[in-house]
Amino acid sequence: MLSRIRIVLIGTTHPGNIGAVARAMKNMCLQRLVLVAPKIFPSAEATARASGADDLLASARVGDSLDQALEGCSLVVGSSARLRSIGWPQVDPRRCAARLLDEVSGGGEVAVLFGRESSGLSNSELDRCHYLVHIPANPDYSSLNLSQAVQVIGYELHMAALERMEPAESPVRQPAPAEALEGFFHHLQQAMLDIRFADPQQSDKLQRRLRRLFMRARPDQEEINILRGILSAAQGRKSMRRQ
Ligand code: SAH
Repeated sequence: MLSRIRIVLIGTTHPGNIGAVARAMKNMCLQRLVLVAPKIFPSAEATARASGADDLLASARVGDSLDQALEGCSLVVGSSARLRSIGWPQVDPRRCAARLLDEVSGGGEVAVLFGRESSGLSNSELDRCHYLVHIPANPDYSSLNLSQAVQVIGYELHMAALERMEPAESPVRQPAPAEALEGFFHHLQQAMLDIRFADPQQSDKLQRRLRRLFMRARPDQEEINILRGILSAAQGRKSMRRQ
């Protein structure tokens, strides 16, 4: 699923950040890095900071045009350090990940754009976005390092993908019906009297507490059978002792 998600870095100044982005992406199973007009690339510093994720650098698409970077994308999200007051609908990273995955599972290609270290995304770049994602942060200090912003968005994408890959819930356990539960309570009460655990005069409150306990557990029929088996065995032993 994540292979149809592009991480697009626009006008990145520091090659070290590009390497750190590659590392953050690979950690989160993202593969497609696109660089639009990077100041310096390739670079030894990028490779060093990629720290084993240099395969992503090697396969990165590099060009000067945003049009080219977005070719084939049906959904584009801009990652913004600032809350923009007007114009662009905004989502948080979790919701953003869900929407991106909805789009790719419908067969689309998607891109998340990240801006320059100094000035972020320009208005004309924002114009290309269907909406913006903002990582909630300290309102007085909301700008994350570029690669750390990619890390947070990547983490949410990875988590959302993991959730969707989880196998369907194991067959739903069917709690036993009311009559089975009532039969069990009756049996329990009788067994408690038989083994002289409960005093018939005082047992109402106790029965109610036990009732609450088993109602909370919502046992299924098989569990009721096991419990009743135990009760029968206890009653049997008791009556055997009596003999
Ligand atoms: N000084 C720039 C921020 C640059 S940080 C500005 O004010 O816009 C570089 C890039 O990291 C940003 O363009 C954005 O894509 C991403 N980024 C940083 N902090 C972010 C945040 N809190 N939420 C979303 N993206 C963020």
